[in-house]
Amino acid sequence: NSGLFKEKFLLKMSNGNKFLNQFFNSNNFIGSFQSYNDIMPSSNLIEFCFIGRSNVGKSSIINAITKTNNLARISKTPGRTQSINIFEINKSFNLVDLPGYGFAKLSKVIRNNLAVLIEEYMKNRKNMKHAFVLIDSKVGLKNLDIDMFDLLCESKKSFSIIFTKIDKSSKTQLELLDTSILSLMKSYSQYFFKTFFTSTKKIEGIIDIQKEIYKLSQKI
Ligand code: GDP
Repeated sequence: NSGLFKEKFLLKMSNGNKFLNQFFNSNNFIGSFQSYNDIMPSSNLIEFCFIGRSNVGKSSIINAITKTNNLARISKTPGRTQSINIFEINKSFNLVDLPGYGFAKLSKVIRNNLAVLIEEYMKNRKNMKHAFVLIDSKVGLKNLDIDMFDLLCESKKSFSIIFTKIDKSSKTQLELLDTSILSLMKSYSQYFFKTFFTSTKKIEGIIDIQKEIYKLSQKI
């Protein structure tokens, strides 16, 4: 009876959604760190980090994944903008909000400091198991994103790409973007996992990221 099967399947899926939402919703803010040395002893749990150009939609994604309004806004309060923010999920693993890069309004000195902070984190943070690089689907790839892919490879860190704000692009535009990224990713095949398509406005693709993080956290 395919109707019944479909009903059961849908029920399981929605429970899965509920389970993951509750799982990620059980979180707490560990701290905000401005230098790599400060975060060293903060936690020994495994970590997943989020990185991308400023304004890419990183805070929105972190809030959507954790189903916690304003969790990532903490990083946006004055004075804390340029720091590494760590959130513990369900006492199981950490999600890390890294500073946005390519923010034109910042001075060169601050931008250099941020680049050093991000580089130190990527190269030294042993418990960081997988990075999510966010790309605004309307803006596409920029040189700094390529620098980030290179840094991840140098640091021997696996990564996935999250396209954000897909509600602003057409299906054709998204397909073109995916094709060109996947072609570029042939050069990064040792470390690249997959692409995700998301919109926090339309709440699309969020569950896929929750599933991926949950799966990776169980595997390690
Ligand atoms: P961050 O600087 O990377 O943390 O980015 P924010 O999460 O603060 O988002 C930057 C801007 O993009 C804000 O004006 C958001 O409202 C907007 N934004 C974020 N996600 C989406 C989305 O999925 N769709 C649309 N249309 N706008 C979004």
